[in-house]
Amino acid sequence: HLRHLASSSNIITCPFPEIEIPTCSIPEYIFSKFGSYGNKVAFECGVTGRKYTFDELRVKSYNLNRALRKKLKLQKDDVVAVLLPNVPEFPIAVMGILLAGLRVTTMNPIYTQDEIKKQFADAGAKAMITLTELFPVVKVALTGKEIPIICINDQASSTTPTGAINFKEFADNSCDIEDIKLDDQNAVAVMPYSSGTTGLPKGVQLSHRNILANLSQFMSDDFTIMRLASGDFQEVVPAILPMFHIYGFTTICMAGMNNGGKTITLPKFTPESYLKLLAQHKATILFAVPPIVIFLYSHPAVKKELLENVHVLVSGAAPLGALDEQKFKDKIGQKVDVLQGYGLSEASPTVMMGARKHDPKPGSLGNIMPNTEVKIMPVGNPDGEALGPNQTGELYVKGPQVMLGYHNRPKETAETLVDGWLRTGDMFYYDENQTFFITDRIKELIKVKGFQVPPAELEEIIRDFPSVNDAAVIGIPHDIYGEVPRAYVVAKPDSKLDVAELNGFIDSKVAEYKRVRGGIVVTDCIPKNASGKILRRELKLQYQNGK
Ligand code: ATP
Ligand code: MG
Repeated sequence: HLRHLASSSNIITCPFPEIEIPTCSIPEYIFSKFGSYGNKVAFECGVTGRKYTFDELRVKSYNLNRALRKKLKLQKDDVVAVLLPNVPEFPIAVMGILLAGLRVTTMNPIYTQDEIKKQFADAGAKAMITLTELFPVVKVALTGKEIPIICINDQASSTTPTGAINFKEFADNSCDIEDIKLDDQNAVAVMPYSSGTTGLPKGVQLSHRNILANLSQFMSDDFTIMRLASGDFQEVVPAILPMFHIYGFTTICMAGMNNGGKTITLPKFTPESYLKLLAQHKATILFAVPPIVIFLYSHPAVKKELLENVHVLVSGAAPLGALDEQKFKDKIGQKVDVLQGYGLSEASPTVMMGARKHDPKPGSLGNIMPNTEVKIMPVGNPDGEALGPNQTGELYVKGPQVMLGYHNRPKETAETLVDGWLRTGDMFYYDENQTFFITDRIKELIKVKGFQVPPAELEEIIRDFPSVNDAAVIGIPHDIYGEVPRAYVVAKPDSKLDVAELNGFIDSKVAEYKRVRGGIVVTDCIPKNASGKILRRELKLQYQNGK
């Protein structure tokens, strides 16, 4: 009994008031809010300028939902794959699918045929919504199956290919079929795939309630990232992070609709198109990943005036160094709040975030979201006792945003969801103020003579070296130490990187066992995925292959 008390005292809850979570489905809740801003622009393409108001979005979603059931005979709980870059039709596709009582699985538009085939089969999808220009790849990926492929013509010149269905026809015309009642809030709504940073991407089952909970947490008073549209006011949000990934899905696509914001979509990030977007639309919120923050403070064409309406920048998905935050503020001005968020696909995604009203500490992940509990557990010991302040261990999370489970992976689900707690696989600690800090992923810690070295810590130090642009660290096998860190560094353009000097710099900053004994390799670029996560397993593979 005492033991129970001791460990339960180290369960941390959100210090701010509990919030109410809507009790209906995603479309019912989000559409119910459109009344006051229905004729404002909801989504606009940053390249072609095609756009939809909230009212148009709702009507088209309803039409699509009817066509999916009447014309394609899709049945409740069937899965529809959405393979799209950021385009203004993305939310229509998602809401249409959800209104029909179906599930949506979002896919990366740069996937190869094999990757499309794999996720499509793994998710058990029955239909596909994509772009006309992706049709040839999709067609081959789904060869041999009678799969309806619905294509969006996003270029003025594109025409619907033979054998494909025109998205516009489905979205613009209503069919005669009764709308269905979405009465199970806990039904699977969205099945994004995890990034596959540490292994194969897994299908994550998120319910209507999971997503609505996270949206409400995000909107709660102490965090308030996005303000609700009213009168002439409307947030303007560039959507450069992919909406197929949970970060862009919830915090940009869904949150934009939920708050009446104007979302400007960019199908492909290039510095030129992003700068053009920022010049044309006065952005008020920037959702970013660390490489974008670095781009913003280091690119000469990014001038303060370009971001004069921005009131907050949110960075997530990968660690943002306190120095990067500082450099951004130095360039853009102090009135922009810079907040880090932490989340994972399995938590819809947000678990913690800089609480805006409480002046979050730079380099920290801020506070836990409302209605959420966390504990820090000793690594590899789920039966142990929760740790106290300033002790590092695995973060466990419990809350209404935590997934139902992995799709078709009972073993992984049982390992990840333990007594209602989500095991994140991430190393964390919190200070006396219950402010949270991330160390690294447990799977990626380097074990030097039994000591743990988080590669992210070394990367942050190396990136602070004046002639270094970017860095990644991996562990490589070593006869005496077991494992030692090895660094890959990208030099700043036009500067000479002195490896010996860098080595000395690192040695002066870290404990002896953390030294980069595995060598420093100067390279052209660090392998990263779309959300800025370093793909350390690719570097390990390179190393094993003798490169
Ligand atoms: P997989 O689970 O398939 O290996 P993944 O964990 O990268 O891939 P996601 O769900 O997209 O898939 O990413 C969640 C992970 O991203 C977290 O578990 C954490 O390791 C990392 N992460 C998220 N936000 C931050 C942040 N602010 N700082 C550092 N790391 C972060
Ligand atoms: Mg993960």
